[in-house]
Amino acid sequence: MKKRIAILGSTGSIGSQTLEVVREHADRFDVEVLTANTNFELLIRQAKEFLPNAVVIREETHYQQLTEALSHLPVKVFAGSESLCQVVEMDSVDIVVTAMVGYSGLKPTIAAIKAHKDIALANKETLVVAGKIIIDLARKHQVGILPVDSEHSAIYQCLAGEGFNKIEKVLLTASGGPFRKFSRKELKSVSPEQALNHPNWEMGPKITIDSASLMNKGFEAIEAKWLFHIEPEQIEVLIHPQSIIHSMVQFEDGSIKAQLGLPDMKLPILYALSFPERPKTRFPRLDFSNHSNLSFEAADRKNFPNLDLAFNAMKQGGNIPCALNAANEIAVEAFLKRKIGFTKMPELIEKGMSHIAFVSEPTIEDLENTDKEIRQMVWSFING
Ligand code: MG
Repeated sequence: MKKRIAILGSTGSIGSQTLEVVREHADRFDVEVLTANTNFELLIRQAKEFLPNAVVIREETHYQQLTEALSHLPVKVFAGSESLCQVVEMDSVDIVVTAMVGYSGLKPTIAAIKAHKDIALANKETLVVAGKIIIDLARKHQVGILPVDSEHSAIYQCLAGEGFNKIEKVLLTASGGPFRKFSRKELKSVSPEQALNHPNWEMGPKITIDSASLMNKGFEAIEAKWLFHIEPEQIEVLIHPQSIIHSMVQFEDGSIKAQLGLPDMKLPILYALSFPERPKTRFPRLDFSNHSNLSFEAADRKNFPNLDLAFNAMKQGGNIPCALNAANEIAVEAFLKRKIGFTKMPELIEKGMSHIAFVSEPTIEDLENTDKEIRQMVWSFING
């Protein structure tokens, strides 16, 4: 029996790479649903190749173009945010890859869990914003959440076979991004183009900026807390510029396990889709003679304050990580539009976080309010 996949955000970086994995393992996987935010042209090409049962374009103004282009094919076409939540509930879907960007991933992920679908989680913002709600819901509906993020896939792989052995510490590795050795002064004047040029990983623009500012690592720490039931104090961020070790777990006897590989997202994607199996691949293999210098250093928390902002948000809990995420989404957007400089981003995020009323056990509605409020607030800070 082939596994039938729904890919939310199929035209983005992770979505496209998921389809590459499916193409190479057509004997194992069938594409059941594809969804996109606005990129209907790529969605049409993908639908023609993979012939899913259904496609959804979130931006409703593209519905007509999509319907016309696919009219001769047995592909159902839907549009709008509501449809995103409905298609994941279809009986014919076995696993949902959540690869959309930012806060938009939350509602469809909740709908998928409630419909008892396993989740291949690529949208880390979902756990940043609503980690407790998602993890509780997944437990209640007995749904597996398989991380697609390379670091969390590494940790997951390190934990395989460990049963009830406790994690003493997670060593979350980070490349450090393109500005690793930059001074505060140099950071002030970096451009979006420089920030978008990541040394090791090819990713979408939002996460590439998050990687350059280390917010991505802060988010990943929060993601790790929820996925692996650990405390903030058990998470150590370790800069490892070569991105060969994708993360490590230290157990209570002091032993450390690591997962290694060339930086290629297709590997964690395939692992999440095929778990617990490891299908044979033709991916390039790691050759240690080409990587004789694996190095490690502490993160520069002074020049990259986002890391501490994220750890503080994680420790405070409640709706504060939601505020962190919303403020960051606006800050990144403003930076990409050249409205603010690189070092202004953490300042805005900190200001936004400190202005929100604390809610200790937020409902989804509370989170929606926090999200909306912070977005407006941070835009008003920017526009002065
Ligand atoms: Mg990652």
